Amino acid sequence: METKDLILQEKLKKLDSHFKKQKPLVELYLEKYEKCNVYIRIDYIKKYDTYQIRWYDLDFLDVKKIDSLFGYETVYREDLNYYVNLIKKDLKNITKIEEKEEKTDIFHMYISDNLTNDKEINIRLNKYVPVYLKALADFIVYIFNNIPRKFEPFLFKLMAELDGTTNRYEIKKSIKFNLYKDYLDKLFSREVIVRGENYFSRGKVIFLEKINDRYIAVVEGSKKYVVFIKYDEKNKTMEMSCNCPSDFYCKHLCAVIIAIREKKIKKFYKISFIKNEKDMLEKITEFNYYLCIGIKNEKFEIIDDYGNIAYADIYNDNHKTNWKIIEDSKDKKLNKMLEEVI
Ligand SMILES: [Zn+2]
Repeated sequence: METKDLILQEKLKKLDSHFKKQKPLVELYLEKYEKCNVYIRIDYIKKYDTYQIRWYDLDFLDVKKIDSLFGYETVYREDLNYYVNLIKKDLKNITKIEEKEEKTDIFHMYISDNLTNDKEINIRLNKYVPVYLKALADFIVYIFNNIPRKFEPFLFKLMAELDGTTNRYEIKKSIKFNLYKDYLDKLFSREVIVRGENYFSRGKVIFLEKINDRYIAVVEGSKKYVVFIKYDEKNKTMEMSCNCPSDFYCKHLCAVIIAIREKKIKKFYKISFIKNEKDMLEKITEFNYYLCIGIKNEKFEIIDDYGNIAYADIYNDNHKTNWKIIEDSKDKKLNKMLEEVI
């Protein structure tokens, strides 16, 4: 066994004794999964009469600080029962869990008999959750929805085999997060936070505006990316998206959250059709206007209905414009850009 493995075993042992041999209700261990080691457990916390999900990034865990260094989220007994019953039903129909050939990546899940009222469930898989264990997959998605987003790459990988492709498993994007107060590392890795801060401080969040219940932003990286953050103030839940190629929560989202917190609003220009001409982009967005970020190659650079950046001809074949500017910046920047085109 390598030294690194020994250190991990040691950490797991320390965690075990930390919990004073208390049997977890659910335990999920991803060993050397994508070169990382994550340990997740769900326990009943008698003192508060709640169920808590806790996660430990074993590669960074300092065993001397187990008490102070852990994240947790409350989960509900009804949820747990719901999933465990489904998993039991699934497993009843399966005589033997097929094991993959690869022996390097190991996923291990344990569900205690306290939850099953029957016998404990112990599932060991190599690398993937197979299609026929759909209920198990749903439960894992549920678990990952309650832990920081930085672990999401694991989830995508685990789920990749579900539909036989590398497409990501569709997960519910609504997450618990206080947009104005929560620590960023609840969502992002350290590396992403550093890059997000860097983007923000270099003024790369070039537009940011709140329209209805959504923040919409454009971040200029290697390309320009569009970020949406829908925030439910009352329930402190959030849905986020960025159209960059990153599979998980990216530096653009991070930079936008920082900009929101710093109140660095930079409103979009707004343009709309003069007439409802039936040519390109005939469907007006839900706002009856388009958000515009400037003019490029003699075209308006706008955000289309799919949340991507698109280009709209300023002039039609008769050299007349179909557009009017309905909101410009104070210094009339868009109007000035338009004059230059003429
Ligand atoms: Zn992005």
